[in-house]
Amino acid sequence: VPAPLAVEDLPPIDLVLISHNHYDHLDRTTVIALAERFQPEWVVPLGLKAWFLSEDISRVRELDWWSSLDDGPLTITLLPAQHWSRRSLFDTNASLWGGFAVAWRASSDKSPWRFVYTGDTGYSADFREIRRRLGPVDYLAVPIGAYLPRDFMRPQHVNPDDAVQIAVDVEAKAGIGVHWGTFELTREAFDAPPRDLAAALGARRLPADRLAAFRHGETRVIGPDLPVGK
Ligand code: ZN
Repeated sequence: VPAPLAVEDLPPIDLVLISHNHYDHLDRTTVIALAERFQPEWVVPLGLKAWFLSEDISRVRELDWWSSLDDGPLTITLLPAQHWSRRSLFDTNASLWGGFAVAWRASSDKSPWRFVYTGDTGYSADFREIRRRLGPVDYLAVPIGAYLPRDFMRPQHVNPDDAVQIAVDVEAKAGIGVHWGTFELTREAFDAPPRDLAAALGARRLPADRLAAFRHGETRVIGPDLPVGK
């Protein structure tokens, strides 16, 4: 599915977070277009800086799991995830993968507003650990697609029911289901993830906005002191 926004339509981009090197998450054409237009800083998992240097992009910082960097009012932490990496025949797991926590502290007396993107992941105990170490999450982005056939995908990709469990584990106030409706990767119907997500939320009597599936190209504004929703 074509991207809903062209690079020229984006607001200025200061910082880009890369979860891992699979082709649906690290698209060379997109990276180069963003680098040329915005010269952003890139934050990547351990071992992935070399790929950027080979593309003549040098404003790159690598993070290990649970390590953080401070950038003004932001603290960015790479989070563990149950996944893998590969870009070519002989580099399986040669670079790390993960999710990101972004904590924004508007002032020193206030507790930070916390965004978490899990990255591609299977379900694991990592999410209870993320809650225990970082505190509750204000806004969560978690995959809801690429989950069938289940026997094959379970270790590396959550399904909508697992995604809802992650939202519960990290005590997410609200969130968005991602990683569906863009690339045809797996066996489930292309439009199945939002329906399965609605069923998973309904089965637990959770409100639909606890984990929302946006329409393709839809924009919502999120952040501290903003109502979550349309
Ligand atoms: Zn992946």
